Amino acid sequence: MLHLRQITKRFGPQTVLQGIDLDLGPGEFVSLLGPSGCGKTTLLRIVCGIESADLGQVLMQGQDITAWPASQRRFGVVFQSYALFPNMTALQNVCYGLSALPRREAAERAAEMLALVGLLDQAGKFPAQLSGGQQQRVALARALAPKPRLLLLDEPLSALDAQVRQELRAEIRALQQRLGITTLMVTHDQDEALAMSDRVVLLAKGQIAQQGAPRQLYQQPANALVAGFVGRMN
Ligand code: ATP
Repeated sequence: MLHLRQITKRFGPQTVLQGIDLDLGPGEFVSLLGPSGCGKTTLLRIVCGIESADLGQVLMQGQDITAWPASQRRFGVVFQSYALFPNMTALQNVCYGLSALPRREAAERAAEMLALVGLLDQAGKFPAQLSGGQQQRVALARALAPKPRLLLLDEPLSALDAQVRQELRAEIRALQQRLGITTLMVTHDQDEALAMSDRVVLLAKGQIAQQGAPRQLYQQPANALVAGFVGRMN
């Protein structure tokens, strides 16, 4: 589905990503986990198309999309800060990415997406009238409404309080499985990565330290670094 080949990125003298190879299968939920500054967000931005790699390729369903701008890739993206338009209602926010559809169809699709995230009754509210968790659900509905081929999540839960975070973990995972959408999530929270993902990729110093099913990383860490990072899970 998505294949990264030898992705390398430098910022000045600093090599942030060094020859990253990563494959995502259809419908898989993969988390990029790692300490602050290890290059997770940079890698997600390269997949998204808002940052370009110095070397390497991004392939999607057999197509080389390395040179495609973000607008052409049309991936669904959810950021930590919900990034909703404050002067638009929840429904209008979800409609925003549906300009290719006739108005009525767009409104229907947006309502359907809001229903999927449990917020149809809040459709007429503005972001400021919604809680953080509700705003993030709207952001998720907006990202998924155009039926993207890939969903990219950049620390989607880190601005939320603990209880909402727990609820949304389960909701996002259930929705992802229901829609069967291939998903790549960046997080620095090991519990979150291990609880939500089919596969966890641990990045350290710009390289993949280990990747595998959550249980595998936890039970068979490849080295002390992985054990130290993953080991805090119960
Ligand atoms: P965090 O969890 O703290 O967000 P991260 O693993 O997502 O960290 P990145 O944001 O990818 O890390 O950053 C990796 C490194 O690249 C950091 O040292 C950062 O300072 C550097 N970096 C990122 N973007 C730029 C930029 N535009 N210019 C210069 N350096 C950058």
